[in-house]
Amino acid sequence: MATQKSLDDLFIDMLKDVYHAEKQAIRAYPKMIKAIETDEVKKAFEKHREETEQQVERLEKIFEIVGKSARGKPCEAMQGLIEEAKEVMEDFSDSPALDAGVIATAQAIEHYEIARYGTLRTWAKQLGMNDAVKLLEETLAEEKKTDDLLTKLAEQAANKKAA
Ligand code: FE
Ligand code: FE
Ligand code: FE
Repeated sequence: MATQKSLDDLFIDMLKDVYHAEKQAIRAYPKMIKAIETDEVKKAFEKHREETEQQVERLEKIFEIVGKSARGKPCEAMQGLIEEAKEVMEDFSDSPALDAGVIATAQAIEHYEIARYGTLRTWAKQLGMNDAVKLLEETLAEEKKTDDLLTKLAEQAANKKAA
């Protein structure tokens, strides 16, 4: 009889997905940071790039907890979001709307991460993995905070453009 896959397997699959997603994000940030025009926005991105490195380390700790080697599984959603970011940066490179566009794509990335970490946290709870829950909640809080900050920056960028 084939072994049935369980929530544990799903948890590890999704852990691999978000691990790959974060690593892709880290690689995508420098280009976005370079493209951004406003110092305040640049700083926000730089800070979150650093946070993302910590997030990768947290994921590696969770892989340790579940006794698996830290390995990603290609996340096509993040791949697509990064492609969109590149498109915006190319199409709006000379535009006063560039920062607004980069912020919007970054926010889509945060929303994907929030969805993933929210689910992982819920499953970790159900699986009784309390240490993993704590680590996932730390990251989830960072992603939400970044999302809020990006909303503020988006409003400012839009206002500047209107002025
Ligand atoms: Fe992240
Ligand atoms: Fe994915
Ligand atoms: Fe993030």
